[in-house]
Amino acid sequence: MPKLSIRDLDLAGKRVFIRVDFNVPLDGGQVTDDTRITSAIPTIQFATDKGARVILASHLGRPKGQRNPKYSLKPVADHLAKLLGKSVAFANDCIGDEAAQVVNKLQDGEIAVLENLRFYAEEEGNDPKFAEQLASLCDVYVNDAFGTAHRAHASTEGMTKFVKQAAAGFLMEKELRYLVEALGNPRRPFVVILGGAKVSDKIQVIENLLKSADAVLIGGAMAYTFLKARGLEIGKSLVELDKTDLAASLETAAKERGVKLVLPADHVVAANPDDGANAKTVGVEATPADLMGLDIGAATQATYSEIIASAQTIIWNGPMGLFEKAPFDQGTRAVAQAVAQASEKGDATSIIGGGDSVAAIHESGLADKITHISTGGGATLELLAGDVLPGVAALTEK
Ligand code: AMP
Repeated sequence: MPKLSIRDLDLAGKRVFIRVDFNVPLDGGQVTDDTRITSAIPTIQFATDKGARVILASHLGRPKGQRNPKYSLKPVADHLAKLLGKSVAFANDCIGDEAAQVVNKLQDGEIAVLENLRFYAEEEGNDPKFAEQLASLCDVYVNDAFGTAHRAHASTEGMTKFVKQAAAGFLMEKELRYLVEALGNPRRPFVVILGGAKVSDKIQVIENLLKSADAVLIGGAMAYTFLKARGLEIGKSLVELDKTDLAASLETAAKERGVKLVLPADHVVAANPDDGANAKTVGVEATPADLMGLDIGAATQATYSEIIASAQTIIWNGPMGLFEKAPFDQGTRAVAQAVAQASEKGDATSIIGGGDSVAAIHESGLADKITHISTGGGATLELLAGDVLPGVAALTEK
């Protein structure tokens, strides 16, 4: 069902509560990476341009339901003011008199940031009274915090029950447009690249994507659970021995559906992650018992790159190896390059989700070639797994 968009709301003179994701890294009271703040600006700007009185609310860090100055959103409010070149009010509390006073002072087109929602345990507990208090501050509600939409918290789900209209902001809309469309109506071939440490984290994602993908390329440590299931020696590689049956059944499901599920043919092995100097590439059927696989090999990089080059829709989540440590970053870099090229030269729609693959694409300097870099970690994975996100379900239908 299509959800109400901020575009559909009458904003002039209204108190508009926007749930944003301002969970940014801070160092000594300074914002060290403001990507999440800048991502919310189109929604904030749209609302102020329409004459809304904008109330911004977010969580920051894990204060565990206690007021803690270390996790105050004040530096974030100051940073936002600098970015926008206008003053931004700050309320020392997110509910009660203090919040209401700041909100009531707002004129049309002005902005206030509320203090960290998670200074109250009631936020994560989705307490209805707390949700009602938040809702009492506003006339309409907008959710632009895609990264928190998989959580049913007071500010993402609970308070929508106490407002007349709950709409998606532009960032939320963009995330849903790309991810839902890619899954529901992909241009083909649709190629999915999955990596990272554990199969167990991504079982549902694989199961769901087998319904729509043409090929699933597996890399990272999770490949070893599949290789072990095939009866191969995997040496000291990371593996989930209790998940080998499941890996085998996923391979069977892929075969039945005619989906190519591709595993590495060669890999880079070493005694341990610190022994990069002695790393060597071997076929996966020739893994020495005393070594561990830490990256996909050159032949696998070439095969994966070729399949990626033929794709029209690409979703990538998770690194191909222990990419934080050279020389085990090569496979991830090769995949980043292939995905960027397929988007640039092959006109493929490319979507990258999940912290590590997003970091890898930024480090490779290729981020601007990607169609959509998702801002959600858990939320992105849950969408890819076919789940309905509570924060999305709670929005008003058109
Ligand atoms: P995940 O959070 O499941 O996406 O896993 C990401 C982590 O998996 C990163 O820290 C990678 O370094 C790690 N990783 C990927 N491949 C391997 C591997 N072959 N051996 C050990 N760790 C790996």
